Amino acid sequence: MKKYLQKITVGALILCFLCTGCASKSRVHHSMDTAMGTIINQTIYVSGGMGTAETISGEILSCIETLEKEQLSWRLESSLLYQVNASAGSSEAFPLGSLLGEVLEQCKKVYAASDGAFDFSIGRVARLWNIDEWAAVNGDGESISFVPPTDAQLAEALAFVGGDRSVVEGEYVRLPKGMQLDLGAVGKGIALDEIKKLLEQREEVTGAVISVGGSILTYGSKPEGGTWNVGIVNPHDTAQSLGTLRLTGQWCISTSGDYERFIEVDGIRYHHILDPRTGHPADSGIRSVTILTKDGLLSDALSTACFVLGVEEGLALAEQFQAQALLVDTQGDIHMTTGMEQYFYLSNSEK
Ligand code: AMP
Ligand code: MG
Repeated sequence: MKKYLQKITVGALILCFLCTGCASKSRVHHSMDTAMGTIINQTIYVSGGMGTAETISGEILSCIETLEKEQLSWRLESSLLYQVNASAGSSEAFPLGSLLGEVLEQCKKVYAASDGAFDFSIGRVARLWNIDEWAAVNGDGESISFVPPTDAQLAEALAFVGGDRSVVEGEYVRLPKGMQLDLGAVGKGIALDEIKKLLEQREEVTGAVISVGGSILTYGSKPEGGTWNVGIVNPHDTAQSLGTLRLTGQWCISTSGDYERFIEVDGIRYHHILDPRTGHPADSGIRSVTILTKDGLLSDALSTACFVLGVEEGLALAEQFQAQALLVDTQGDIHMTTGMEQYFYLSNSEK
């Protein structure tokens, strides 16, 4: 692990990727859409014609929409997660299907390894903070009358939180009464895993970079060669880039930052990454965490967990999963796993 003592003048983690020179125009397709409550950017290189790239881009978008509607949304009655939550307290185990069964198995692993810093059963507490509402309203530039939950309300909700009390057996789950799952911390990463499977079935795709909010998938290569350059936003000045990850082939990159969703009330700034021990926004001295792994769900779960844990424990957790991590603290210092150093280029540095 290496600590960069240099003060950051530019940068947190971004969801933006920099395409250094593009291939022949007829073989690359760019698009920007919204789905899963966030922005979806796609760049797809194909060996066939433009029609093919556009079709695949449409398939990816509907894959994300279907995932949200049928599996992951806590809010839509049509989703499996909604029905799982409705089953809490039942003595009957609820059938999950293979996707959600696998997702919850993985979530339990990260829950256990992070000592509950990543807790997929945080739903009751997350609802009290009304995070989705901040995003919608802040996005319109308006303010809402938001009253933070009281300690008593948080304590009451925390009694229903604790991922180890959910029972996952194969493709079945049983939740204790009152528990509500929330997959907001991993949804975008799960989307990347599903997109990766889709791309693998389309042999005409030679390369792609897809961002789903703060999670990015790189796949294949650019026709002209060179690296995928994924920019990381400076959390201390989100208009600026902190640096770039230079990558080849398939990777998943997820960032959790306190600038992504927040609200200010009476001069106090509340962000969306919650500490399951207190129910309050995590206060671990971190402004953003970027995780680099091959797996989307893991990158997304770890970015949230490391944010809650802080520098020392966060770096150790990432290494436990053979993932690379880059954390920016409240002082502007950068902390990385040793393996991250070969990929990260600080802005304005040649290395
Ligand atoms: P992310 O931006 O990936 O870090 O995910 C944050 C979202 O995950 C929040 O909007 C909540 O819905 C949920 N969340 C917040 N804190 C946690 C936590 N400690 N563990 C699991 N999910 C969380
Ligand atoms: Mg996450």
